[in-house]
Amino acid sequence: MKKQINAYSNILDLIGSTPLVKLNRITAPLTGNFYAKLECFNPGHSSKDRIAIHIIEEAERKGILKPGSTIIETTSGNTGFSLAMVSIVKGYKCILAVSSKSSPDKIDMLRSMGANVYVCPAHVSADDPRSYYEVAKRLHSETPNSIYINQYFNELNINAHYSSTGPEIWEQTNGQITHLVACSGTGGTISGIARYLKEQNPKIKVLGVDAYGSVLKKYHETGEFDHNEVYPYRIEGLGKNLIPSATDFNAIDRYVKVTDGESAHMARKLAHTEGIFAGYTSGAATQALYQLNTEGEFTEDSNVVVVFPDHGSRYMSKVYSNEWMENQGFFDIQDAEVPEEIKY
Ligand code: PMP
Repeated sequence: MKKQINAYSNILDLIGSTPLVKLNRITAPLTGNFYAKLECFNPGHSSKDRIAIHIIEEAERKGILKPGSTIIETTSGNTGFSLAMVSIVKGYKCILAVSSKSSPDKIDMLRSMGANVYVCPAHVSADDPRSYYEVAKRLHSETPNSIYINQYFNELNINAHYSSTGPEIWEQTNGQITHLVACSGTGGTISGIARYLKEQNPKIKVLGVDAYGSVLKKYHETGEFDHNEVYPYRIEGLGKNLIPSATDFNAIDRYVKVTDGESAHMARKLAHTEGIFAGYTSGAATQALYQLNTEGEFTEDSNVVVVFPDHGSRYMSKVYSNEWMENQGFFDIQDAEVPEEIKY
């Protein structure tokens, strides 16, 4: 009898089932137990693989997508990479409309994955026909058998995490999770996980991480869009200057805001203390743990799961570049909260 070959049928089979890893040294000064959900273990190195496969397979089930169809989205970030990866394997075309602000590295990365990238002027308003939103919409209306992913306003973004990340965390913690800490960009990750976990145990606290310069926290507290909250910031993928319908604000107990500089230092400390080379927003989420701890959010018995959305390799010219850190003025920041023995 022939021996079986132990292999996955293709790279997409590796999406999901990411590991949960205990944080040790970096969280030593904090009260409670802390576990990181490492989304960089997805084959596209981020949590966005989950929404890419979920949204595309839903469209297949509905008969909207057939081999040769086109996937369209407006992003130069993780979602673009994941969509390009899923499209290649499944035989779809992938068109990504990106802003001219996107780095050449990012554009090359998307093109390496076979995406057709339209670089659109960054200086025009969102409703200008040249903007990446309008270009994506036009391409969608002109291209038969195409879908526009529209991750900020797509309920399937929430469902992707409700049906995968949420159950994984529940099982990995044997139902003992007490707090979830997750960054909020489109809100899909935090909302999907929160909905699932709160169905299992309504007492689980869901804490969202937002950026200074983003409107989400204030909107959650007041229900109003405060234009004064919106200004430029450096962290990518976290926070927003609009209210995404892919965020279920009712499933989130509270938000905490973090700064660019402290988040950058925390990402670097994760590498130096835990050996975890994660992205900028993973640093932001860890920074949030410190702030929430100071505010008395955790007890000795708390089992806190923190989502680390992507991998550090995408930030070599940013957070992991001393020159970039220096140029941002981040080396001037005093951080009093982290004791000397775990400093890097
Ligand atoms: N971190 C990174 C690096 C991201 O790309 C994103 C997605 N925008 C997030 C965090 C936030 O995830 P979500 O969009 O599901 O809220």
